[in-house]
Amino acid sequence: MKAVILAAGAGERLAPITQTLPKALLPIGSESILSRQIRQLAEHGVQDVYVVIGYEGEAIRQHLAASNPPCAVYLIENPVYKTTSTAYSTLLAEEFVSGEPFYLLDGDVVADGYVYEKMAALDGNVLLYQEKSISSPEEMKVSQQGDVVYLSKTIEDEAALGEFVGLARVSGEASTAFFAALKKAAQDVYYEVALNEIASEFPFALETLAEGSWIEIDFVTDYLQAVRIFTEQRDVVTPLISEQVLLCPGPVMVSKKVKSALLHADIGHRETEFIEILTRCRAKLNQAYGVTGKDYTNVIITGSGTSANEALLSSYGPGKKLLILSNGEFGNRLIDLARCHELDYTALEFGWANKIDLGQVEEMVATGAYDALMVVHHETSCGMLNPINEIGAIMKKHNVDFLVDAVSSIGAEALSVEAANITFCTASANKALASLPGLAFVCGKKTAFQALKGQKARTRYLDLYKHYEYEAVSFQTPNTPAVSLFYALEVALDELLQDTVAARMKHYGYLASLVRNRLKKLGLSFVIDEAEMSRVLTTVYYPEGIDVEAFHDWVKQHNYVIYRGKGPFLGKAFQIANIGHVREEHVLAFLDMMERGFKMTATTASVTQ
Ligand code: PLP
Ligand code: MG
Repeated sequence: MKAVILAAGAGERLAPITQTLPKALLPIGSESILSRQIRQLAEHGVQDVYVVIGYEGEAIRQHLAASNPPCAVYLIENPVYKTTSTAYSTLLAEEFVSGEPFYLLDGDVVADGYVYEKMAALDGNVLLYQEKSISSPEEMKVSQQGDVVYLSKTIEDEAALGEFVGLARVSGEASTAFFAALKKAAQDVYYEVALNEIASEFPFALETLAEGSWIEIDFVTDYLQAVRIFTEQRDVVTPLISEQVLLCPGPVMVSKKVKSALLHADIGHRETEFIEILTRCRAKLNQAYGVTGKDYTNVIITGSGTSANEALLSSYGPGKKLLILSNGEFGNRLIDLARCHELDYTALEFGWANKIDLGQVEEMVATGAYDALMVVHHETSCGMLNPINEIGAIMKKHNVDFLVDAVSSIGAEALSVEAANITFCTASANKALASLPGLAFVCGKKTAFQALKGQKARTRYLDLYKHYEYEAVSFQTPNTPAVSLFYALEVALDELLQDTVAARMKHYGYLASLVRNRLKKLGLSFVIDEAEMSRVLTTVYYPEGIDVEAFHDWVKQHNYVIYRGKGPFLGKAFQIANIGHVREEHVLAFLDMMERGFKMTATTASVTQ
């Protein structure tokens, strides 16, 4: 007996796991899915197995060469696997099996021994299926019209007998007709189309399987379930699985090189090794801030983004009159910091997602009542990019210090502390700089840092002058730094400066356009005008008639992490960020997944049409 296994597909729904490994090579315990199929076939009388390969075919070839299969295995290459589907892949096996009976297996079906036993006992033309009520448009359904069995994904659920397992036995008589039908079929259809074509002349018997005896691995959850069931390992989390695609606005995905940088030699933080890496990071960070001259410097604080804002406001703020602008959550946090430290401040709130009124800002600072103004560059809670250059010009005109929170814009948007006349600018490592969370920055005019001398600090850890004094004078940090994160940061900064911020802006802009164009095509509406949006974040209202929590979970189950709306948008809008080490494939695969997610979590019929 012969068998054909179809293993050419890219397994896109299993991304990101399948970005480096074809589905067939995913491990189920100590065996790959493919080796397991081959072993089980050999154990049940199959002598020759033909495997059709395409995506990462070379990896499969090497795997099999190294694994000493228990029967003869032949590889058939589908060089056009990207543009063809299983009908075409199956047709490539014609010269080896046409005219003979053979088993036809989808390469992503993991089954227990009982299923293969059942197959080996079969005769004639048979389809294996599982009787069940169907819940998903993903499933290949089995239906019967009269005595004839048909397979289709689009059969009405009620009309379906159950789900096709992706395992069939084609009889010797039917085999030639099947290949003739495959030849006539379009290249981008499933082989099931050809089975339907011959079904009335060569009827299929149906063999039903027990639940839990097989799993088709389409999604990460399928894979996890297969590992649990077929290896009896409970609560497994394979290292592969931890790699989720983060499409939330930070922390972000980082490159392998950034992550690998964490594995460094142990060093003492008061030794030259740390002094050197700190000094290099600060120099590179200045470049990321757009510093070209000698007037600016920066400090790196071990802490999240808020630690930089808190160091700044609590160290600079006492004795000053501050104007703090807000048009969302992160503007509000600045106001909250000023409140915590009992600063003398005025909050100018425009309301979430509303544009900053420059006229009103100018009117207020023109009174001469304020020493400084602070604003968020990219208001992450709605994705709005605030006009810092315009605000900076107003501050310059009225000789008012200008403080900016650039936590989620540095590295993704045009930002030059010099050009915008910024006095102090905060940021963190774990957004568009594409490094790991835990380091925060304050870049500012050297004269402004020096002017902090003698200010009575409100906190010991976040005393900005102390950080400046240590870092700029003795090239050390006042407290124990997160040493490993500096190694990661340096690599991330190298990658950014090598790419250039301009190239990153172009990349992010392109990814955002993919997201926005798809959302518009689906008729969804944005929370703010496209012209106001940053390049890295899109905030969009949910379609009507979906269960928003179920949608979030569904997307998460498929390994994508998006952000639930905040504040007034909670439950109404969600955020898709394309920030950090995000590639085009991630975004495209997510958008398909999102569309499916809308359908799967629809509570009303209108969404599913
Ligand atoms: N500022 C902005 C603009 C942000 O987007 C964030 C976090 O998302 C913060 C400040 C706070 O940063 P963290 O959560 O790292 O303290
Ligand atoms: Mg499949």
